[in-house]
Amino acid sequence: MAYRTIKGTHDILPEEIHRWQQLENVVHSIAGHYGYNEIRTPVFEDTGLFSKSVGKDTDIVSKEMYSWEDRSGGHLTLRPELTAPVVRSFIQHNLGVRSPLQKLYYIGPLFRRERPQKGRQRQFHQFGVEVFGSEHPEQDVEVIALAHHIFKELGIKDISLKLNSIGSGDCRRNYRSALIKFLTPFKDDLSETSQKRLETNPLRILDTKIPHEKEIIQNAPSISDSWTDEDKSHFESVQSLLSGLNIPYELDEHLVRGLNYYTRTTFEFVSEDLGAQDAVCGGGRYDNLVEMLGGRPTPATGFAAGMERILLSMVTSEQTDGRESIYLINLGKAVTMKALQMAQELRSNGITVYMDTKRRSLKAQLREANRLGTKKAVILGEEELKNNRVQVKDLLKGEQEEIAMDQLAKYFIV
Ligand code: ATP
Ligand code: MG
Repeated sequence: MAYRTIKGTHDILPEEIHRWQQLENVVHSIAGHYGYNEIRTPVFEDTGLFSKSVGKDTDIVSKEMYSWEDRSGGHLTLRPELTAPVVRSFIQHNLGVRSPLQKLYYIGPLFRRERPQKGRQRQFHQFGVEVFGSEHPEQDVEVIALAHHIFKELGIKDISLKLNSIGSGDCRRNYRSALIKFLTPFKDDLSETSQKRLETNPLRILDTKIPHEKEIIQNAPSISDSWTDEDKSHFESVQSLLSGLNIPYELDEHLVRGLNYYTRTTFEFVSEDLGAQDAVCGGGRYDNLVEMLGGRPTPATGFAAGMERILLSMVTSEQTDGRESIYLINLGKAVTMKALQMAQELRSNGITVYMDTKRRSLKAQLREANRLGTKKAVILGEEELKNNRVQVKDLLKGEQEEIAMDQLAKYFIV
């Protein structure tokens, strides 16, 4: 049997790659304009990095990780997210000492063993940013503005920003007690997972997708009642700065995000035309994570955006790569050397050259040139070689002219 891609993984084929590159170029360019530098970390890490940061009771760590024991006995995991690896790298290389405001972005593949469906794969891609060193609301807003800017540039419509603050330590502790007190009488109505979460991480129950649990939660106490004065004024600043940048948002008290490490601002961009898997980007502030992973206390904020989902909602521009291309028709073994040299020279001058290497007939090469959509063909046969001249054929108009070989590059460069 022929081998196939593993369930939940996909090849990105030549006809799709243009859209991926378009998306990646926008990310590089806009992240650059905001003064962020790219960071690339390995695709596998110590398992402990994820169980400690993302949290043992999350879906990611409890059932979605691809983990194995290395021959040397270490426990390794294909990265299911990139915040923890970036934080690990930040600590390991003392990046905070090099730059008190360290602004990083990444693009890369991630691995989660989930049930594959539209917008949900086992190998998928994210781009994201992480900023270390500022606890202030303007940093949250810059990060949100960056994401918003990228979506706007990509022409993604019907996307909205949901915003919440889950407060800092004191707030979380008070809210946790309030939530447990509220949910305990409903315990028997909750799913098994939520019953477990009631003990381990009750905030995550707010994340539920089960309809009758959503109903119960409607009347749950609001996190805003537990904000400290500092939490409140931080969040008010985030909102007023966003308004000042004309970035619309909706407040969503139940937006707590799945991972353990968030503090204060949390946000999500959702797209209306994606159906069930509607979150394209999630992020927020995580002021305690660097310290939790062994670094010096450092405030931080960031987001991660799912590239497959963005591509699903991206209006694609026509595939025009803007390149002028030439088809170099070469006829017979005697002209091979000259043809390769000519192609080389044209390519060094920035011209895209297709050249036959299947030793096909004139007719077959012309047909191929048309299929590729090239507008001009250069024809080199033995006769042309002898005279140091080539035929240049305009494939649209059908006209043909003969020019000297040494004039060829000049002819096409103008
Ligand atoms: P969801 O609620 O859809 O499971 P999540 O909260 O698990 O999302 P994050 O861990 O915050 O997602 O990752 C950020 C983004 O990465 C998501 O908003 C989504 O666009 C994308 N993403 C997450 N998991 C997958 C997946 N299995 N396949 C494709 N994209 C994904
Ligand atoms: Mg998920």
